[in-house]
Amino acid sequence: MSTNRTFTMIKPDAVENGHIGGILEKISSAGFKIVAMKYTQLSTRDAEAFYAVHSERPFFGELVEFMTRGPIVAAILEKDNAVEDFRALIGATNPAEAAEGTIRKLFATSIGENAVHGSDSDENAAIEGAFHFSGREIF
Ligand code: UDP
Repeated sequence: MSTNRTFTMIKPDAVENGHIGGILEKISSAGFKIVAMKYTQLSTRDAEAFYAVHSERPFFGELVEFMTRGPIVAAILEKDNAVEDFRALIGATNPAEAAEGTIRKLFATSIGENAVHGSDSDENAAIEGAFHFSGREIF
Protein backbone atom coordinates (compact mmCIF):
# COMPACT_ATOMS: atom_id res chain seq x y z
CA MET A 1 0.00 0.00 0.00
CA SER A 2 1.38 3.40 -0.84
CA THR A 3 1.00 6.39 1.48
CA ASN A 4 0.85 10.06 0.55
CA ARG A 5 3.92 11.38 2.38
CA THR A 6 7.64 11.51 1.77
CA PHE A 7 10.61 13.03 3.57
CA THR A 8 13.22 15.34 2.07
CA MET A 9 16.32 17.28 3.05
CA ILE A 10 17.86 20.16 1.14
CA LYS A 11 21.49 19.19 1.71
CA PRO A 12 24.36 21.48 2.85
CA ASP A 13 25.72 22.01 -0.69
CA ALA A 14 22.40 23.38 -1.97
CA VAL A 15 21.99 25.60 1.11
CA GLU A 16 25.55 26.96 0.67
CA ASN A 17 24.90 27.63 -3.02
CA GLY A 18 21.71 29.62 -2.32
CA HIS A 19 19.25 27.09 -3.76
CA ILE A 20 16.72 26.77 -0.91
CA GLY A 21 14.22 29.02 -2.67
CA GLY A 22 14.71 27.43 -6.09
CA ILE A 23 14.25 23.92 -4.72
CA LEU A 24 11.16 24.80 -2.65
CA GLU A 25 9.68 26.41 -5.76
CA LYS A 26 10.19 23.19 -7.77
CA ILE A 27 8.64 21.18 -4.93
CA SER A 28 5.57 23.43 -4.71
CA SER A 29 5.13 23.66 -8.49
CA ALA A 30 5.14 19.87 -8.69
CA GLY A 31 2.12 19.75 -6.38
CA PHE A 32 3.71 18.76 -3.09
CA LYS A 33 2.30 20.31 0.07
CA ILE A 34 4.77 21.01 2.89
CA VAL A 35 3.30 19.54 6.08
CA ALA A 36 6.45 19.95 8.22
CA MET A 37 9.66 21.93 7.74
CA LYS A 38 12.73 23.03 9.72
CA TYR A 39 16.13 24.63 9.22
CA THR A 40 18.60 22.60 11.23
CA GLN A 41 22.05 21.02 11.28
CA LEU A 42 22.80 17.33 11.70
CA SER A 43 25.29 16.23 14.35
CA THR A 44 27.73 13.46 13.44
CA ARG A 45 25.61 11.09 15.49
CA ASP A 46 22.45 12.15 13.62
CA ALA A 47 24.06 11.66 10.21
CA GLU A 48 25.53 8.27 11.15
CA ALA A 49 22.13 7.11 12.37
CA PHE A 50 20.22 8.55 9.41
CA TYR A 51 22.56 6.87 6.89
CA ALA A 52 23.22 3.71 8.94
CA VAL A 53 22.19 1.57 5.97
CA HIS A 54 25.30 2.86 4.15
CA SER A 55 27.73 2.37 7.08
CA GLU A 56 29.75 -0.30 5.26
CA ARG A 57 30.01 1.66 2.00
CA PRO A 58 33.35 3.28 1.09
CA PHE A 59 31.78 6.75 0.88
CA PHE A 60 30.20 6.65 4.36
CA GLY A 61 32.80 8.83 6.13
CA GLU A 62 32.68 11.44 3.40
CA LEU A 63 28.87 11.38 3.39
CA VAL A 64 28.68 11.98 7.16
CA GLU A 65 31.23 14.80 6.93
CA PHE A 66 29.32 16.42 4.07
CA MET A 67 25.90 16.12 5.67
CA THR A 68 27.11 17.70 8.94
CA ARG A 69 29.16 20.58 7.55
CA GLY A 70 26.35 23.12 7.44
CA PRO A 71 22.63 23.61 7.85
CA ILE A 72 19.97 21.66 5.99
CA VAL A 73 16.24 22.10 5.41
CA ALA A 74 14.27 19.02 6.49
CA ALA A 75 10.66 18.64 5.38
CA ILE A 76 7.75 16.22 5.12
CA LEU A 77 5.84 16.51 1.85
CA GLU A 78 2.34 15.37 1.00
CA LYS A 79 0.94 14.37 -2.39
CA ASP A 80 -0.66 11.29 -3.93
CA ASN A 81 2.08 8.77 -4.69
CA ALA A 82 4.54 11.02 -2.86
CA VAL A 83 7.58 8.74 -2.59
CA GLU A 84 7.67 7.71 -6.24
CA ASP A 85 6.73 11.12 -7.63
CA PHE A 86 9.34 12.87 -5.49
CA ARG A 87 12.09 10.46 -6.56
CA ALA A 88 11.15 11.30 -10.16
CA LEU A 89 11.27 15.03 -9.38
CA ILE A 90 14.75 14.86 -7.82
CA GLY A 91 16.31 12.59 -10.46
CA ALA A 92 19.15 10.07 -10.34
CA THR A 93 21.64 10.02 -7.44
CA ASN A 94 24.38 11.14 -9.82
CA PRO A 95 23.40 14.53 -11.31
CA ALA A 96 25.31 13.64 -14.48
CA GLU A 97 22.72 10.90 -15.02
CA ALA A 98 19.69 12.87 -13.80
CA ALA A 99 16.98 13.77 -16.32
CA GLU A 100 16.61 17.32 -17.60
CA GLY A 101 14.51 19.51 -15.34
CA THR A 102 15.02 17.39 -12.23
CA ILE A 103 16.18 19.05 -9.02
CA ARG A 104 19.52 17.22 -9.04
CA LYS A 105 20.14 18.10 -12.69
CA LEU A 106 19.45 21.75 -11.92
CA PHE A 107 21.09 22.16 -8.52
CA ALA A 108 23.48 19.28 -7.69
CA THR A 109 27.21 19.26 -8.31
CA SER A 110 28.32 15.62 -7.81
CA ILE A 111 27.12 12.14 -6.85
CA GLY A 112 27.99 12.91 -3.22
CA GLU A 113 26.93 16.55 -3.07
CA ASN A 114 23.62 16.04 -4.80
CA ALA A 115 21.45 18.82 -3.34
CA VAL A 116 18.50 16.83 -2.00
CA HIS A 117 17.42 13.65 -0.25
CA GLY A 118 14.19 11.84 -1.03
CA SER A 119 12.93 8.74 0.82
CA ASP A 120 13.09 5.55 -1.24
CA SER A 121 10.06 3.77 0.27
CA ASP A 122 6.92 4.52 2.25
CA GLU A 123 8.42 2.71 5.22
CA ASN A 124 11.59 4.82 5.13
CA ALA A 125 9.56 8.00 4.59
CA ALA A 126 7.76 7.32 7.88
CA ILE A 127 11.00 6.44 9.73
CA GLU A 128 12.89 9.45 8.35
CA GLY A 129 10.03 11.88 9.02
CA ALA A 130 9.82 10.66 12.63
CA PHE A 131 13.60 11.03 12.96
CA HIS A 132 13.27 14.79 12.43
CA PHE A 133 9.75 15.76 13.54
CA SER A 134 7.47 15.18 16.49
CA GLY A 135 3.73 14.75 15.93
CA ARG A 136 2.98 18.36 16.89
CA GLU A 137 5.40 19.69 14.25
CA ILE A 138 3.45 18.02 11.44
CA PHE A 139 0.45 19.94 10.05
N1 UDP B 1 26.51 8.87 -2.12
C1 UDP B 1 27.87 9.14 -2.29
N2 UDP B 1 28.58 8.37 -3.17
C2 UDP B 1 28.03 7.36 -3.88
C3 UDP B 1 26.65 7.08 -3.70
C4 UDP B 1 25.92 7.86 -2.81
O1 UDP B 1 28.40 10.04 -1.64
O2 UDP B 1 28.73 6.69 -4.66
C5 UDP B 1 25.72 9.68 -1.18
C6 UDP B 1 24.80 10.67 -1.90
O3 UDP B 1 24.75 11.89 -1.16
C7 UDP B 1 23.48 9.93 -1.87
C8 UDP B 1 23.55 9.26 -0.49
O4 UDP B 1 24.91 8.85 -0.38
O5 UDP B 1 22.38 10.79 -2.02
C9 UDP B 1 22.64 8.07 -0.34
O6 UDP B 1 22.88 7.16 -1.38
P1 UDP B 1 21.69 6.41 -2.11
O7 UDP B 1 22.28 5.35 -2.97
O8 UDP B 1 20.67 6.00 -1.09
O9 UDP B 1 21.12 7.53 -3.10
P2 UDP B 1 19.76 8.39 -3.09
O10 UDP B 1 18.68 7.51 -2.54
O11 UDP B 1 20.05 9.60 -2.24
O12 UDP B 1 19.55 8.76 -4.53
